[in-house]
Amino acid sequence: MSDLNLSTQEQSFTKDELWTNCLLYIKDRIQEQAYQTWFDGVIATNLNEEEITLQVPNQFHYEWLESKYRNLIDNALKENASNPLLVNYSVVISDKSVEEIPTLTSKEKPIPPGYQRESQLNSRYIFENFIEGKSNQFAKAAALSVSETPGQTPYNPLLIYSSPGLGKTHLLQAIGNKLIMQNKNMRIVYLTSEKFMLDFINSIQKNRSTDFINNYRNVDMLLLDDAQFFQSKEQTQEQFFHLFNDLFQKGKQIILTTDCHPSELKGLKDRLVSRFQSGLIVDIQPPDLETRIAILMKKAENDGLEIPYDVTEFIAEAIVGDIRAMEGALVKLLAISSIRREDITMSLAKQVLKNLMGNNSFMNLSIEMIVKYVCRNMKISERQIIGKSRTMDVALARQLAMFLAKELTNASLSNIGSHIGGRDHSTVIHACKNIDKKIQNNNKFQRKVESMKNEILGQKTSNL
Ligand code: ADP
Ligand code: MG
Repeated sequence: MSDLNLSTQEQSFTKDELWTNCLLYIKDRIQEQAYQTWFDGVIATNLNEEEITLQVPNQFHYEWLESKYRNLIDNALKENASNPLLVNYSVVISDKSVEEIPTLTSKEKPIPPGYQRESQLNSRYIFENFIEGKSNQFAKAAALSVSETPGQTPYNPLLIYSSPGLGKTHLLQAIGNKLIMQNKNMRIVYLTSEKFMLDFINSIQKNRSTDFINNYRNVDMLLLDDAQFFQSKEQTQEQFFHLFNDLFQKGKQIILTTDCHPSELKGLKDRLVSRFQSGLIVDIQPPDLETRIAILMKKAENDGLEIPYDVTEFIAEAIVGDIRAMEGALVKLLAISSIRREDITMSLAKQVLKNLMGNNSFMNLSIEMIVKYVCRNMKISERQIIGKSRTMDVALARQLAMFLAKELTNASLSNIGSHIGGRDHSTVIHACKNIDKKIQNNNKFQRKVESMKNEILGQKTSNL
């Protein structure tokens, strides 16, 4: 392969010079940590008038650059090269010669062109990638059912709610992706309620509010994400209320997500809340350990990565209650291993998670450990403790778990609450006060709590 110099009126760059300039451009615009992780080891291996080839350590690295830094790389090239360049990637596979390295180009994406942009759907969010467990079974079944006969089930609207990072957006988009694959003429609109509001404001500024609403009135399916954002936005709610009625009357399917049960949404007009509640409401709970492991394994499989089972389990145990955070930890680990060219091992995982997540992962580990410990100690199932039962022994165990989590971790009250059955911080405060009172009034109880604390701490150090 000959190294072609790009000749411009003012300058001519070799591939190395051009890429070095691009790296300087990029370095100025992202955080040091991100730069080191994603750009430090990337080199340009080929350059001609139309294309530049960047060499990356693995498929995952390529996907990451493509999905997160594509614009930045394009801008860097625009700034430094005289003519537009297409970016190709080559993935280094150790022991193989350069000729054998497959070249992935951004042209070869398996998604039909335009499809992603029009519908705003992410092609990774499909049902096949959504791992089912007890915590999300019902939500997935409802989503599937709606995607089979949209607008024709009693599930209109379908409302999915959960705390953040548990798969609402994934499910919502999976419905859209499935339908659009089957019928690309179907007009499916995915948007966040924030985007809806911004569009609305924009249309008012331009005196085109009728255009705005007409755009949405013609859709076959509306996927509205994070509707809690409508709280206190009265005008936007009003607009959405009319759109909702209009679509509903035409038998068009509406699917919404919120971060809590609609009845708990404050600052939303009653008539809108009652619309939200008029179909089917399903929730997603934090996944259990097995589901978390399966999710990580699926992600690794999709990215063509081999991660030892113990490492997967370690990450899944360390982070509960937020799949996004768990995936984030995996990504960090992969990034470090990729840059350092070190295999993913338990010792690397421990090091990286400790360094990158600070005490966070270990804090989460503790909350889950504490819950497990209290369950074992008081002969109560985890299901009961996170469930709704108010019998004395279950309520006491729950309050103890909250109290111990507060004493033994740095977790915030709301974090503790969300780990223990998705309760809010005021419940945790109440629990802690109750246990405190009991400790003061009852010596035997005080000794019991002390010994529980010591046992948990002993367990924690032996586990790490
Ligand atoms: P939410 O919208 O509830 O905040 P997301 O849908 O954005 O959560 O999910 C966060 C991340 O976790 C996404 O990358 C998503 O693909 C992943 N995820 C969530 N639930 C699952 C699941 N059951 N199986 C596989 N991946 C999941
Ligand atoms: Mg979301």
